Amino acid sequence: MRLSQDAHTKRTRGRSLLMEARPEGTPARYSVRTADGVQALSTPDDDRQVVLTGCSVLSMDSEQEDVERGDIVIKGHSIQAVSSNLDVAALAADGAIVVDAEGTIVLPGFQDGHRHCWQNQLRQLISDVDDLEDYVDLTHRTVAPLYTPEDVYIANNLTAWGCLDAGITTVLDFFHNRRSAEHAEAAIAGITDAGIRVVHASCAPLSGSWDGKWPADLPRLRDTVADGVYGPATVRMGVVGSTAFGPEHAALSERNLRFAREHGLAMTVDAVLGDAGSANLVDLGERGLLGDDVTLIHCNALSPEAWRHIADSDCHVVLAPTSDAQIGITAAVPPIQDVLDAGLKTGLSVDVEVALSGDMHTQMRLVLNTQRMLRSRELYYGRPAPERAISVRDVLGYATIDGAHANGVGDQVGSLRPGKRADLIVIDATAPNTMPRNNAVGTAVLGADARNVLAVFVDGRARKWAGSVVGWDQAGTLVEVERSRDRLIRDGGLQYDPINGMTGRLRPAAGGYEVAVEADYGD
Ligand SMILES: [Zn+2]
Repeated sequence: MRLSQDAHTKRTRGRSLLMEARPEGTPARYSVRTADGVQALSTPDDDRQVVLTGCSVLSMDSEQEDVERGDIVIKGHSIQAVSSNLDVAALAADGAIVVDAEGTIVLPGFQDGHRHCWQNQLRQLISDVDDLEDYVDLTHRTVAPLYTPEDVYIANNLTAWGCLDAGITTVLDFFHNRRSAEHAEAAIAGITDAGIRVVHASCAPLSGSWDGKWPADLPRLRDTVADGVYGPATVRMGVVGSTAFGPEHAALSERNLRFAREHGLAMTVDAVLGDAGSANLVDLGERGLLGDDVTLIHCNALSPEAWRHIADSDCHVVLAPTSDAQIGITAAVPPIQDVLDAGLKTGLSVDVEVALSGDMHTQMRLVLNTQRMLRSRELYYGRPAPERAISVRDVLGYATIDGAHANGVGDQVGSLRPGKRADLIVIDATAPNTMPRNNAVGTAVLGADARNVLAVFVDGRARKWAGSVVGWDQAGTLVEVERSRDRLIRDGGLQYDPINGMTGRLRPAAGGYEVAVEADYGD
């Protein structure tokens, strides 16, 4: 396949750069605010030692204290030390690259718990959509079957750059447009070619024709990824919460759970919603089939009994706050209070950029606002109210370590302590909107946004530096994205106005999910 070849060439080229990565002689010193050093810090290098000095560190880790002003050391792919009293001169004498990070806050990179990256040449096209059926009609029923692997690659690649720019270091790509093995490989390569960590949740298409080789092809895909053909990536099985949101073979079921577990795959379940989602969870829970290898997304309008099963089986939860609220999915209020009442934590997720913003600050703020709003309303009217208002630290946890656990990568990333992979972001606390640093957690959640993300490291490599993403071919991406968008719009028979996008319905909502080919389980 052409894409795999291109991706392979790119990866090989990346490796050859390794040779010229380390400067000889005097130790290098750079500042996180100037572009110098980007080459030395962004090439893959197992031995490179980098010290970020003079920063505040929010570890988000139960075993590592925060540091008010100190240093963090990256060795190769991992974090080596977080401390307020390192001998930086000695490290420099030993060849470490020293980076002046004075006036910054270092924290774990954000974890997006679910996004449908393949749609992103259509970003914001239906910004005013307020009905899930209309969204499904455009994406799944109209354009999804038209996608080639090249369309998937360019959308996923674009998404990855947007993630990096916003400080997102892991994106769970819920890929429900897997029409062939080539589509799946293009989805993964599109993201890892930008040097970001991907959790690829592979789901059968919800509509249209496809090769039927799902989930049978999943073990092969997982092994290919494990062989390190791509960058940092893992593979999970993706399904939807009930047959209300997809064909039977793509829904959460005993058969799919058994397949996933037989092949050592964890599972992410999108569209866990409403009565149908509740009934399915209760049924599977009663039969002891749920577990901590299952992550449930949205979880809106679920019954108390369904929440009991979620909690009792240690399932992970990921909310999609803007998606529920803005598109108006089921009860529309992000179910943060249900999460708290069940004694759980949650990850956060963007879901779809065809109608929503793509950063994690928006998610953190909406979930914080939602819980405060619901609680304060009850207090005001003298009704029984939730005991506790959640804090900025709570929501920062959701966006980092709790999200990492929900993405199945919590043992590797999501917090900062020695031994974990070096996925971290550097936020400028001296900008017009962030100074002075009075409360680093508050600054990170409420004061800052993507413009203040000075640097991003993924697996020990700088992927954003001095405020710019590293290695992005902006002009080339734009040409490819527009070409792909124009073809999908044309072949889908769609009309849009570049000022206002698509307005109104495509057609009377079709309802239902039809697929031309049944799934192959390889048995
Ligand atoms: Zn979704």
